[in-house]
Amino acid sequence: MVLHNAKIYTRGRVVEAGLAIDDGKILKIAKKTNLPSASAKMNLRGHIALPGLIDPHVHLRNQELAYKEDFFSGTAAAAAGGITLTIDMPNNKPVTMDSISLRERTRLAERRSVVNVAFYSAFPQKLEEVPSIVKEGAMGFKLYMSEKIGGVDVDDDKLLLQAFKKVEKMGVPVLVHAEDRKIIETGRREMEKTGRKDMEAHVKARPPEAEARAIRRIVQLAKKTGVRVHFCHVSSAVGLEAFLTAKKDGLPVTCEVTPHHLLLSLEHLKRYKTFALTNPPLRTKNDVFALWSALKRGFIDALASDHAPHSIEEKKVESVWDAQPGIAGLETTLPLLLTQVHGGQLTIADLVRLTSEKPAEIFNLRNRGCLKEGNWADIVVVEINRKYKINASNFCSKAKYSPFDGWSVRGKPVKTFVNGQLVMDEGEIVAKLGTSQIIRCKS
Ligand SMILES: [Zn+2]
Repeated sequence: MVLHNAKIYTRGRVVEAGLAIDDGKILKIAKKTNLPSASAKMNLRGHIALPGLIDPHVHLRNQELAYKEDFFSGTAAAAAGGITLTIDMPNNKPVTMDSISLRERTRLAERRSVVNVAFYSAFPQKLEEVPSIVKEGAMGFKLYMSEKIGGVDVDDDKLLLQAFKKVEKMGVPVLVHAEDRKIIETGRREMEKTGRKDMEAHVKARPPEAEARAIRRIVQLAKKTGVRVHFCHVSSAVGLEAFLTAKKDGLPVTCEVTPHHLLLSLEHLKRYKTFALTNPPLRTKNDVFALWSALKRGFIDALASDHAPHSIEEKKVESVWDAQPGIAGLETTLPLLLTQVHGGQLTIADLVRLTSEKPAEIFNLRNRGCLKEGNWADIVVVEINRKYKINASNFCSKAKYSPFDGWSVRGKPVKTFVNGQLVMDEGEIVAKLGTSQIIRCKS
């Protein structure tokens, strides 16, 4: 197949060219006259082809949480949003935390997904199982410092050290949700004691210091083991400072930020209530400013949606303590970021680096993350000047709500190709089930 009449982002710039795909991979990027003849041709009408996004933080749910999202609805949402690879978090029901649970999830995803899917695991009960989980394909191990998910006690430094050593040997990263459990549990108890159940109480219970302290603690443990650490959804100025200190010390640490922490602050939480409730919580304008300034200076490694869908009933509740935290972001990430490109906050090169190139590097995804000959044809075609309003009721995700509902955006993903196959066309999912691949760790 040949895609012609396109503007293609390749090797750091946008070129007017066509792209030939053979057997799922990019055979050639060249002017029309230099492209091989093809059985199928598609005119991209001058639109921009970018590498499909690699989203390193996605909750695809399924199994007992299929009422929130399943592999089809979640990967359809990804396809609609121009995301060609999602890496799934382990806090499922059952929790992904050994080779059996990982194999079962892989089996289910294989049949029902329309974009590529990879998996993280939580730490197993028995640390000896770490190598077998990596052999089964896990891209890394997620550590929740805010609560116990998986087999390790987050308060036990000695155990964490052992766990990190095991993971370091396998060459995969530890992914960290950095919020100190003791601080946030004390915070919540204090808020509940005074009878508070409002949005601000949730924020007060989870202060920026909880993030900073958790990051500092993990950095100390990582230092002793040499393990690679990826900090998920860094949200605050002090958290960022703790991370940057480690980075400047030359430690193998990376971090991601989410569009919601870049674009929303406490005022939005007051307006959108539980729809904007997430962990770590939205922060002040100063924190938002700190994230942007680090991003512009090249200190942020990746942008991730932290797509965390819930049923509407789990969101529409009286007390903040009963509400499920999380924002569905697969279908809003790219349009929101393209809008920032138009606003001059981000360049196309930044966007591609943060959403494709760097994630591919962090997770050792060979032949993905950029458009060049020999790589998989994971492509999103964007109509860069198309203005429209985000309409959550049209989401492919089961979570048909968003704090960004009704927001005006500029730049729309109009076609998504996964492994050379067209999976989304003008918002319609056109993929056959199971055309995607399960991506397994290559270490
Ligand atoms: Zn998450």
